[in-house]
Amino acid sequence: MKNIILFGPPGAGKGTQGSRLSDKYGLKLLSTGDMLRSEVASESELGLKLKDILASGALVSDDIMIDLIISCISAPDCEEGFILDGFPRTLVQAQALDAMLAATNKEIDHVIVLDVDEKTLIERIATRAAETGGARSDDTKEIAAKRMQVYKDQSSPVIPHYDTKGISIHVNGMDDMDTVTANIEKAL
Ligand code: ADP
Repeated sequence: MKNIILFGPPGAGKGTQGSRLSDKYGLKLLSTGDMLRSEVASESELGLKLKDILASGALVSDDIMIDLIISCISAPDCEEGFILDGFPRTLVQAQALDAMLAATNKEIDHVIVLDVDEKTLIERIATRAAETGGARSDDTKEIAAKRMQVYKDQSSPVIPHYDTKGISIHVNGMDDMDTVTANIEKAL
């Protein structure tokens, strides 16, 4: 049906919106953060390598991420459509995704960009850390600030890439969760 990218800085609510959209439209949700965290939990060789990268707030290498996403998108459970949460996070990843989709006669239909205020986000992440008892090693105020900087430097250039293609939908991510969901659904 539809292939969607959910895009926004850390703590913008991509996870919540992604699972709601996935349930409503029956699209396969591909959350790179969740995939990487379960790889770490499995204590595989790759997981051990990823552990420190995730905890530091830096990005995992483009090569690893591109291989991971290519194999997920090619799987049968993505045939009816998918939602990407956390990918692409660099321009190189976005270009690799374009090439991969073109080669398989697929395309991205919509890129939902959650627009947010950076200061509020860092507070949100710190609150999430307090609530979940630090379940995520990267949910501290210091690492949140690092992830925000990484987002600005490496991820935000992805937005104009999709704006130029005319497929991005900007939604105010500072509204409450239900309003954000309603606005996304309206725009789709
Ligand atoms: P958030 O959206 O809250 O930043 P995610 O769960 O999406 O968190 O990602 C957590 C971490 O996983 C990132 O900080 C990064 O280290 C890694 N990661 C996830 N997706 C990618 C990606 N596409 N490229 C590189 N690293 C990634």
